[in-house]
Amino acid sequence: MSENQFKRPELLESLRGLLGRITTRSPFYRKKFAGIDLADVRTWEDFERLPFTEKADLREAYPLGLQAVPDEDIVRIHSSSGTTGTPVIIPYTRQDVEDWSEMFARCYAMAGVTRTDRVHVTPGYGLWTAGIGFQAGAERLGAMVIPLGPGNTDRQLQMMMDLKSTVLCATSSYALLLAEEIERRGIRGKIHLRKGIIGSERWGEKMRRRIANELGVQLYDIYGLTEIYGPGIGISCEHESGMHCWDDFLYFEVIDHHTGEQVPPGQMGELVITTLRKEGAPLVRYRTHDLTRLVPGECACGSPYPRIDTIMGRTDDMVKVKGVIIYPAQVDEVLKGVEGASSEFQVMIDHLEGRDVMTVFFETTEGAHREGVEAMVRQRCKERMGITIVPKAVGIGELPRSEKKTPRIFDNRY
Ligand code: ZN
Repeated sequence: MSENQFKRPELLESLRGLLGRITTRSPFYRKKFAGIDLADVRTWEDFERLPFTEKADLREAYPLGLQAVPDEDIVRIHSSSGTTGTPVIIPYTRQDVEDWSEMFARCYAMAGVTRTDRVHVTPGYGLWTAGIGFQAGAERLGAMVIPLGPGNTDRQLQMMMDLKSTVLCATSSYALLLAEEIERRGIRGKIHLRKGIIGSERWGEKMRRRIANELGVQLYDIYGLTEIYGPGIGISCEHESGMHCWDDFLYFEVIDHHTGEQVPPGQMGELVITTLRKEGAPLVRYRTHDLTRLVPGECACGSPYPRIDTIMGRTDDMVKVKGVIIYPAQVDEVLKGVEGASSEFQVMIDHLEGRDVMTVFFETTEGAHREGVEAMVRQRCKERMGITIVPKAVGIGELPRSEKKTPRIFDNRY
């Protein structure tokens, strides 16, 4: 069995250092780990017995309960875009801000971005970590930043043409929206993009191909979450075989979502992250709820940084229908293999007349024979996922796009 490549022997000392620091400095962890003598944590096994940190713990610490340094050392806060309940506030020291931009600059470098590039930033600014992270990393690298933020597609495209943006930073749904708009307006010849850095949500192969083809760019997946700095803690390379992550800053584990036990590299589970250097709000074994796997072996690009796979969805997105666990990536996989089906879809789960009904809405390419495509999607879902669904083909552009994360599964049963 291959080992977790994040588990480098010298890291154990870093972890012990982290535990030592939080014992003295973090009221949050003093309370959370009360009754555990962290000095006793000497081996990986000891470490893996420590309780997980949950998002709910972070919410409970609102507003500044996570802070592990004196007030004068905090230079900024960010907040997670919590759609439900109390937000989470993450305080950053000057060093945290620098570390984050260092990681982000590495991401750009991994994607082949250089100082001569013009980086068009569409993710939002403000409490959210996205926009400012993309900007700080590009500045650290020495590229020219065009800090548009989200929205106003007319202005986006005008600036993109006038300033000859070469790198687009966006969510996948916004990149798709821009790609479609460029196509519709027939301005492809005036667009100078060569790379797209796409963050923050799960997206499928078909969507990737459409964005890449319509924009004429090479795409890179960037990973991150506000609780752990923000985007920029890992990125895919030109070989598109997972995302390289900066293991000198972060320690990754993948666990079984239900049992909390480690799963071997290659196997899907929930990503758990420990910050090795973070000062303002260090986190130990933080459950991200992101579904992925550790990618075993060496990457063809030769980078020594270990990889996780593209995020396959969120554990919160997993739903049980007729006893079968469903997550968005599976639907995406099915659509990928069906001629005439496009990448955009939405799943509705309803309880009708005493039974669960799963309806899959998906867009079809122009000229596709809808009944035929529907029959194929129904058959493939049965074969691949073991579930009978109701397929509903719609035209291109009929399902909603958004600048933020696009929800894929709507569970209307409860
Ligand atoms: Zn690589």
